[in-house]
Amino acid sequence: MLPQKKVLVVEDNELNREILCDILSPEYAVLQAENGQAALDVLKENGESISLILLDIVMPVMDGYSFLSHMKENSAYSVIPVIVTTQSDSEADEVAALSHGATDFVSKPYKPQIILHRVASIIHLRETAAMVNRVQYDRLTGLYNKEFFYNKAKNMLLQHPDKKYEIVCSDIENFKLINDIFGIPAGDQLLREVASVYRRLVGDKGISCRLNADQFVCLVEHHREYDDEIFQNADEQIHALANMKNVIMKWGIYTVEDRSLTIEQMCDRAFLAARSINGQYGKYFAMFEDEMHDSLVREQAITDVMERALEEEQFEIYLQPQYQIRGTKLAGAEALIRWNHPEWGFQSPGVFIPLFEKNGFITKLDQYVWSRACKVLREWEDKGYPPISVSVNVSRADIYNVDLPKIMTELIKENNLSPDRLHLEITESAYTENPVQIVETVTQLRKLGFVVEMDDFGSGYSSLNTLNNLPIDVLKLDMEFIRSETAKPASQGILRFVIDLAHWIKLHVIAEGVETKEQLERLANIDCDYVQGYYFAKPMPCGEFENLLKESMEKEGGTI
Ligand code: C2E
Ligand code: MG
Ligand code: MG
Repeated sequence: MLPQKKVLVVEDNELNREILCDILSPEYAVLQAENGQAALDVLKENGESISLILLDIVMPVMDGYSFLSHMKENSAYSVIPVIVTTQSDSEADEVAALSHGATDFVSKPYKPQIILHRVASIIHLRETAAMVNRVQYDRLTGLYNKEFFYNKAKNMLLQHPDKKYEIVCSDIENFKLINDIFGIPAGDQLLREVASVYRRLVGDKGISCRLNADQFVCLVEHHREYDDEIFQNADEQIHALANMKNVIMKWGIYTVEDRSLTIEQMCDRAFLAARSINGQYGKYFAMFEDEMHDSLVREQAITDVMERALEEEQFEIYLQPQYQIRGTKLAGAEALIRWNHPEWGFQSPGVFIPLFEKNGFITKLDQYVWSRACKVLREWEDKGYPPISVSVNVSRADIYNVDLPKIMTELIKENNLSPDRLHLEITESAYTENPVQIVETVTQLRKLGFVVEMDDFGSGYSSLNTLNNLPIDVLKLDMEFIRSETAKPASQGILRFVIDLAHWIKLHVIAEGVETKEQLERLANIDCDYVQGYYFAKPMPCGEFENLLKESMEKEGGTI
């Protein structure tokens, strides 16, 4: 049985209260209050679960009108419909009740059938309105929600085939970070402010919507040329909020030209434009251009075939050797994915990895890489090669997977390997984006025996003094960092300092992207532990790497 709907009767006269309870209680759960103040207390306790209020006007302590004004101030209660009970058929009373926000009125003496009908129909009306609201509007900002916007925008374009329209969208840089640092309520307030920017921007010339999280979009009739000033003003409105000085929004605009596109595709184009200026200081907005579309088409084509590519084993792991700097002894390898598409040929990870990170496929691909790496390690151990380690890349999406430690442990067990044979590379920027989650997951992985490396150190904004608090074993210096630091005179760079510090907190250091003898010597001079780079070898198929293993074993005097 459905729970009974709650009706609150507010009336100081006990007899009247009883009459109303008798009328209502066969159909509703009736709550009672003897004056406005008591009614506010009942509201506080039951909140929005109350479907309707029957309210007397003349009461001691707090009368009906004051109760109505208090109630309307609170947005959680203000939506509850109120029927005012008036003493007579006095028009003045009724007008006063309605002007204070009452939904309807009934006059005394009570007529049971009329009261029941009014109550039922008003509750029904309110529920229908609430449903429509839920379907049409985003609860947080009051803008249209995605589905409704798509539909309404489509109709607008159909109804006005000759008008010129634009899709304008925006994305907040690092919104997640804002939520983490300032808290969800501040994040919510920011989003509401963005919504008000949109209302101002669009006026009565179009419609706006919150697509998801921090992405907003509007369809607006062309009524002005866009320039930096418009969007700078929008930013200023947001900066006026407490603690929001650093919030950066990027805006994208698609001029609706090809009406055969879906609204979703048009929005994609506007967002593509916005994304094209991500990270560019002083750029507020960008117009969509056709070249941007080409990359979208390309991304779509990759997305369409990626699952099949994995099934058909078009992905292969390559291994790039890593050496101990002292004595250049082979110490391990990094597993790097390669995609050899039957028609497109070799695809660069630089193109498909960021896309897979965006569409989520990376978690599947990474697990494939880890599993291949473990199989190779097993094979070599069976062949009696020395037990080197393989580093695998763990993308940030993997970190959010609560099963990560379990998946890793199972892989190790399946292949009967010790966990320290698998080194897990996690990029530096992941640490700055979500430190809490990372530290938790990585601590767990280390407890299980895996070796954790911070990849690309020096490419982002990790501060050296946070290194001490992070659960890592190895610092992997970024290629660009090595390149720029080794180009400076030895006395001027911070490379030596970073390596000393890392050693001091008991981290091993590996330099990646070492391309020249000079770089190698420089790194050796300042006691870097390991190196990886084209100077020694490019990433290679596993079979070729096996030859290196063989050679290194012979050099060490071992036998197979
Ligand atoms: P990364 O993990 O920092 O890998 C190092 C990249 O530098 C590799 O590029 C490697 O081939 C390249 N490299 C190594 N030594 C040198 C050198 O001396 N000079 C130059 N110019 N480049 C060098 P690659 O294989 O194209 O991978 C690029 C990025 O793609 C990787 O950066 C990593 O972030 C990602 N990636 C590659 N494979 C995987 C994977 O299996 N899973 C995940 N999640 N990401 C991967
Ligand atoms: Mg790596
Ligand atoms: Mg790297």
